[in-house]
Amino acid sequence: MDINNKKVVIGAIAATVVVVFASIIAIALQGPNNTNNNSSTSSTSSDVTIPTSENVSRGDQPLQGDKGKRLKIMTTFYPLYEFAKAVVGDRADVDLFIPSGLEPHDWEPSARDLERLKDYQILIYNSAAFEPYIDRVKDLGYDLKMVEAASGIVLDQDPHVWLDPVLAKEQVRIIQGAIASMDEEENSRYYDENAMVYTARLDELHAKFEEGLRDCERREFITLHAAYNYLASRYGLKQITIAGIEPEHDIPAGKIREIVDMAKRYGIDVVYAEEGMDDRLVRALAEEMNARVLTLSPIEVLDEEDLEEGKTYIAKMEENLENLRLGLGCR
Ligand SMILES: [Zn+2]
Repeated sequence: MDINNKKVVIGAIAATVVVVFASIIAIALQGPNNTNNNSSTSSTSSDVTIPTSENVSRGDQPLQGDKGKRLKIMTTFYPLYEFAKAVVGDRADVDLFIPSGLEPHDWEPSARDLERLKDYQILIYNSAAFEPYIDRVKDLGYDLKMVEAASGIVLDQDPHVWLDPVLAKEQVRIIQGAIASMDEEENSRYYDENAMVYTARLDELHAKFEEGLRDCERREFITLHAAYNYLASRYGLKQITIAGIEPEHDIPAGKIREIVDMAKRYGIDVVYAEEGMDDRLVRALAEEMNARVLTLSPIEVLDEEDLEEGKTYIAKMEENLENLRLGLGCR
């Protein structure tokens, strides 16, 4: 149903537009990342090490928990992995539950995946709406502390709280509190210091967004899936979305017309595609609007290549900011 509908929509659009191959190829070759060669994203390739109080202040020696037992912490998807890692430094093990490169909205763990959890003491997830398999984990009866990192933050079932740096800070605090309560006091203090170092970086990120999005030609932007509600309301922007909260939802045929009309009204000349997602619909829409395609990342998928390049949540957020500034005509 949905796939066929999408094909019909894409076909209908493709038939009604003049295909500007040259400009699409130019956009593809130029790539959104090449527009980011300025100081604010120069940290991208050097950001391999997530700062902790240890590697910042070169303070006390790494300790192991009581009886030499290190905590093993599982996190469900990338941003939570980075947040937990920033908190524990090298005093606990943090792993990623979802296999590299997979999109978390649709992922369900296999029985074998679930069995991996036996070796862990803590499982950090975003919200029951984002990882519905959490109920299956609870049914396993493992001795596993379950930490909902968006607890008390999620509104209207929209899980994308990590895309607002201020809410990301709250998530770091929830994660830090949960891990600290499971470890010895000495380590707990260390986690608290680490969380302060990392949340100070999130404060800086928030300040960059405030400053960077202050003086812009427009506040509206068009994206594929509705991932940016929290970000948009934080900085007084309005997201216009092609799909719903989950990227694979049906696109009603009238929706495209509606978006094209809105784009005209607001003078929007950029459509945001999403990394790792099929961008045919976005490109067809951009052609219809005679708009450019840039990229925004919901930071749901970081693959091995990203990690090898030292990409981090903060670096990806800075790229998002640069691309938003281009699309919104910010000075
Ligand atoms: Zn999403």
